[in-house]
Amino acid sequence: MLKIALSKGRILSETLKLFNKIQMDFSQVNEDTRKLFFDFEEYGTRVILAKPSDVPTYVEYGVADIGVAGKDVLLEDKKDVFELVDLKLAQCKMVVAIPQDRSIDMPIYRVATKYPQIAERHFVKRGIPVEIIKLHGSVELGPILGISDAIVDIVSTGSTLKKNNLKILEEICPISSRLIANQVSFRVKSYEIMALIEKLESVL
Ligand code: AMP
Repeated sequence: MLKIALSKGRILSETLKLFNKIQMDFSQVNEDTRKLFFDFEEYGTRVILAKPSDVPTYVEYGVADIGVAGKDVLLEDKKDVFELVDLKLAQCKMVVAIPQDRSIDMPIYRVATKYPQIAERHFVKRGIPVEIIKLHGSVELGPILGISDAIVDIVSTGSTLKKNNLKILEEICPISSRLIANQVSFRVKSYEIMALIEKLESVL
C-alpha cells in the first residue's frame, strides 16, 4: 500500500482535484471528521491527513511514502526527503514587505515572520544584519504594532498586505506545492511512485 500524506487546510481541495484528474477519487477524504487516514483498496493507497508543516516530517520518518507539501514548509524545515515534482498548486510567493509610507532606502533592523529560517538566510545572503522575530500568526501586524520594520510572509492575491498598508519590498522566491518522497520508499516502491508521477505530470 502506498501511503500519501496530504496537507489539511487551504490546499486540500486543490490537491484532491488534482488526484481526481488522474482517476484517483479521494472525495471521501474529509478533514471535518476525526479520521486521520483513509484507505482506498481500489488504488492500493492510504491517504494520511496532516498539518501542512508535519507532512515533510511524516515523509522523512516513513510514516508516509510520499506527500504533498508547500515549498515554504520545505525551505523552512529542511528535511531529508526527495522533492520530485512541482505540482503547481497554491502558487504564491515569499516576500519582504514594509509599510507603504516607508522609503525603500530606510534600513531594516527587525523583521517579523512565521518563517525565521527563510528570512535569516535571505538577509544573510544580502549581507544585512537584522533581528528576526518569530511570530505564529498575524505577522502583518508587526509593523503596525511597532514590533518590526518589515515582515517576511507569503503573498497570494496581495489583499492582506494592502489591507494592512504594506507593500512588497522584494520577492524572495516563488512558492507552490511539491510532491515529496521518503528516500527509502522511493527506492523500494519506485514502480508505484514513478507510475504516479507519470500520471500527475500528464495532467499538470
Ligand atoms: P493574500 O491576501 O491572498 O495575499 O494571502 C496572504 C495570506 O494568506 C498570507 O498571510 C499567508 O499566510 C496566507 N497564504 C496565502 N496563500 C498561501 C499558501 N499558498 N500557503 C500558505 N499560506 C498562504
